[in-house]
Amino acid sequence: MTSTAVRVRSAPEYDLAVVGAGFAGLACARSAAVRGLSVLVLDRQARAGQVIHTTGLLVKEAAERWEVPARLTQRIRGVRLYAPTLSYIDLTAPGYYFLATNTAALMQWLAEEARRAGARLRYDCPFRGASRDTGAMVLAGIGARVRYLVGADGAHSSVARAFGLSRNRAFLLGIEAEYEDVGGIDPDRLHCFLDSKLAPGYIGWVVPGVDGMAQVGLAARWPHKPDLPAFERKLAPLFDWSRARRIARRGGRIPVGGRVARFARDRVLLVGDAAGIVSPLTAGGIHTALESGWRAAHAIADYLEADGPEPARAATAAYPRFALKRALRVVADLPLPNWLFNAMLGSAALRLVASSIYFHRRSDGALSRATSREEAELRRPAD
Ligand SMILES: Cc1cc2nc3c(=O)[nH]c(=O)nc-3n(C[C@H](O)[C@H](O)[C@H](O)COP(=O)(O)OP(=O)(O)OC[C@H]3O[C@@H](n4cnc5c(N)ncnc54)[C@H](O)[C@@H]3O)c2cc1C
Repeated sequence: MTSTAVRVRSAPEYDLAVVGAGFAGLACARSAAVRGLSVLVLDRQARAGQVIHTTGLLVKEAAERWEVPARLTQRIRGVRLYAPTLSYIDLTAPGYYFLATNTAALMQWLAEEARRAGARLRYDCPFRGASRDTGAMVLAGIGARVRYLVGADGAHSSVARAFGLSRNRAFLLGIEAEYEDVGGIDPDRLHCFLDSKLAPGYIGWVVPGVDGMAQVGLAARWPHKPDLPAFERKLAPLFDWSRARRIARRGGRIPVGGRVARFARDRVLLVGDAAGIVSPLTAGGIHTALESGWRAAHAIADYLEADGPEPARAATAAYPRFALKRALRVVADLPLPNWLFNAMLGSAALRLVASSIYFHRRSDGALSRATSREEAELRRPAD
């Protein structure tokens, strides 16, 4: 008999450890805690919302499902789509809207929701690996024993690396600056700019934000580096920059290769960007991060508390494969010339394609489908 076998083992201290207090991790932690699991969340940031790498635009479906407080958001009812020449068309759909967010405050709210549900949040606490011990995993540097581990640590997941899971390979690189006092921006439009030279594979944007802020950014197929100053020079004649003050700059890589091949193994599951659950076409990942975190929480609670199937099975069925959007990403990556965008701007075909990209209903199939028990959890305020 080995010494390991005779050692007296202490019971796991937490049912679930979640690495990453982003959208996916906090949604997962909240729902798992509401389901009665003891939950520990680790994040390397010093506090909620300390570092923001996203524009933070929410689609209507996410806003409604997660009941984000109105004080943190600014409703935008339509899209203004600009050709490279800066002529434009307006697109709207009855009842549809986007929400610009005060994203740092949104992260603080999500963290507070998870805490109120009973999760323990530890900031300034990077994931340093975990070792397996019978029936549990032990988190390196923390010593906590946990029954299940979720990797919600973003596009470059350390959890994926530590457990030999698949990594994201295809990215857009996005860069954004946030300004106070930019004049002349229509606040009811998401301003989107087609320009295959400045933003190959994606678009530029100006988002009229909360409290009069404006977010100006663009993304391009990685490893192409988007040139934000050149984009800002292009915008100079459109808006009034005379009193503008830049207050933040941010950016990061967005995985657009679709769901990674191997996103789970024994008692470890990836969610959100870590699992590549981001629309390969629009690069929107907040809605799917929230949904995948929530979905994972229920699968893990069913598994740990109710003899449910291994959560990887539920995730395999629920996580979208994005087959169509991956195919459309190939089209978006084609080096289309700017004259083509200019020529097509007024066409019915472009209007149709753009409207279906911006306003299609994002149900994400099984990812968002809830049983009545899960719906009840979503509606239940945390104690
Ligand atoms: C420039 C840009 C603009 C974007 N704009 C939008 C948008 O407007 N709308 C939209 O829907 N999507 C947008 N996206 C995509 C969206 O931001 C992501 O899909 C979303 O944030 C994914 O959420 P997540 O919780 O999976 O990961 P993240 O938001 O990346 O959160 C991961 C968390 O894990 C933590 N972490 C990382 N490593 C460790 C570690 N080793 N130990 C402990 N903690 C760790 C991080 O600190 C972070 O808190 C944008 C992305 C970029 C880069």
